[in-house]
Order: sequence, then structure tokens, then C-alpha cells
Amino acid sequence: MTSTLHLVDDLDRSVLVSPIGMLVSWAEEPADALVIEDGRVAWLGSSARPPAADVRIDASGRCVLPGFVDCHTHLVFGGDRADEFEARLAGRPYAAGGIRATVAATRAADDTTLRTGAERLAQEAVRSGTTTLEIKSGYGLTVEDERRLLEIASTITPHTTFLGAHVPEGDADAYTDLVAGLMLEACAPHATGIDAFCEKGAFDADQCRRVLSAGQAKGLAVHVHANQLGPGPGVQLAAELGAASADHCTYLTDDDVAALRDAGVTAVLVPAAEFSTRSPYAPARRLLDAGVSVALASDCNPGTSYTTSMPFVIALACRELGMTPLEAVRAATLGGAAALRQPDVGHLRVGAQGNLVVLDAPSPTHLSYRPGVDLVERVLLGGRGAL
Ligand SMILES: [Zn+2]
Repeated sequence: MTSTLHLVDDLDRSVLVSPIGMLVSWAEEPADALVIEDGRVAWLGSSARPPAADVRIDASGRCVLPGFVDCHTHLVFGGDRADEFEARLAGRPYAAGGIRATVAATRAADDTTLRTGAERLAQEAVRSGTTTLEIKSGYGLTVEDERRLLEIASTITPHTTFLGAHVPEGDADAYTDLVAGLMLEACAPHATGIDAFCEKGAFDADQCRRVLSAGQAKGLAVHVHANQLGPGPGVQLAAELGAASADHCTYLTDDDVAALRDAGVTAVLVPAAEFSTRSPYAPARRLLDAGVSVALASDCNPGTSYTTSMPFVIALACRELGMTPLEAVRAATLGGAAALRQPDVGHLRVGAQGNLVVLDAPSPTHLSYRPGVDLVERVLLGGRGAL
């Protein structure tokens, strides 16, 4: 794998994966074999009568899944916050201001250091089965630093989100004007999405609306860090704007749940953040039972969730959020694709990007049944082995 996570579409070899012990494709018809050609799923069917292919991968007794879609990460940053983590273990609660420590370290780091660090984490993510990755800015908080973080992120993934509205620098209203104006102007060419941290200690609903609407007017998909540390207006704002996702969603009223469902906003749940900060988990069952589109993501960042492992997130979702193993895998694949509004990832129907994971296990249940065990035997990106 090179520095880009995405589709390898210039393959001159076709790959047959057959037979497969258990295939989770999210296609309607059951199948136990598939062919990847030109980087895409070209055929799904029975291993009894497979078409010819240049290469065959035997996955008998193994489970094959779509590659995970991690739709919420903050991978470009300087330094780490191990000291803060240790202090938290000793009883100090998480507050939004911890972000400032990473902002200082990020501004002090040169481009090469930041790029190398983010690439290392992206490679780590691929090794645990992630084949589509979103990366947010948000540790620069100046026009130039936010722009350079997005430029670095866009060398790693096509899904880059401008998060200038992470925490305010100085007067919150004046800073909001900067984010929605000059900073957005500089960052939009390097971003596909825009995000804002709607929370006490960060930005209020009016400030977030100004930033997100300005980004939306430039064609960026809207995401909101919403209702993470307490009840608040973030989820309702996401619904009002027709956002692609509302992320965190820990503190929800029944009206919030209904608003997400009615507006078709994907709720992105990040249980590794709650795990790392010893915070209450999001009400996944209420969301699923109400028919809300749910995604799981790592929220990989140095402050509150320093993991790239989607299998770990899936294990937490089953153990702590009350999701079934298949619901968790669906949220980690199709759910993430919905949050990124990218319809050709997160599944293995014909036409999908040929990104898949072979588990050294007979079913996806083992991801939560055997927590902490590396079950990812093989990752294919567009048919090409990533490992
Ligand atoms: Zn986040």
C-alpha cells in the first residue's frame, strides 16, 4: 500500500475469492464466492461455478466482510496526550479544552512530521481492516495551519473534513467569522466535508450554523460533533441542515432521535471515546429501534480515543451499546458509507469497490466474542493485497 488508502483501479489481474466460509456482502442473494476486476466487485455467486480469474484466494472456513469505513477520525496532529490520559485514569474528567494541548504541538510540528504520523496511523488502520477513512482538521485553528492539515490529509484519503470550528481561539464570535470566512475560503479546496463542535465550551448552535451553512454553500457535506458531553442543540441543528451525520450522540431526547430519523441523518457512534474517557455510552438501541441510520467510527485522536481499530469499536458496540454482531458490522461498513455519502463502499455488491477483509474466524461474531485478538488475516484494497 502506498500513502493513498483508496481504490487501485488500474489492476490488470482479476481476483477470485472462493470458497468463502461466510460472506457478509449486504447483497440480497447469498453467495460464497466473488470476483474483483478492475478494482471493483464484478461477480458474486456460488463457488460451484465461478468464472475464470487470474488469481484465486481460498477463504474456506473464513468470514469475508466489506472493508471497514471509518467515517470519523482526527489523524493529523502533533505530540500525544498520554499524560492527560494518565491523569484521567486518576480521576480528572475530560473537558473540551484538552484540544488546545494538541493544537500547540501541531502548530509546532513541520509538514513532514505531521504527514509521517498520519500515514503511520492510516497504515495501522488498514492492518485492522479499515479500507475507507475520513480525516478531519481541527488542530491548527489558524487559516494557514488548518489549510496545511487538510492538504496533508488529502494526500492520504479523499474524505477530508474541515473542522476549524473545533474550539474557539479568542473571542468565539470573532473566531466564528474567521472560520466561516477566510479560513473556509482557504480550506474548502482541500476538503469534502465541514464539521463543527457544538458543545458548551466550544461553539453554540448559532455559531455552528454560520460555519456549517457557509461550508454547505461551497458544496461540502455537513457533519456535527453533537450532544457529546451533555444534552444540546447539535443534533437538531444537524437535522435542520440536512447533515450527512451527527457524531457522538450520547445525550439524546426522544425529539432528537425522531429528528435524526426524519431528516435521514446518520448517527455516528464512537464508543472507543467513551471507553477512553469513562463516559456514558450512546443510546444505540434507541436509535436502531427508531430506524435511525447508525454508523460506528474510531474517532481516532490523541486526546480521547487513541485507537484506529474498528474491530475494537465493534467489540465495544456489542458489549456496551447492546448492538448485535451483525448490526455492529453493518454500522462499521454501510453505516460509515452513509455518513460519508459514498455509495460504492461498505458493501460487496456488484459494482462496489473491491475492498474486503478476510477474518481468521468463521463469523463476524468473533470480532466481539474474541476481543483484543487480531483476527484480520488479509485486507484487499481494490483486489490488491494491502498486507
Ligand atoms: Zn471527533
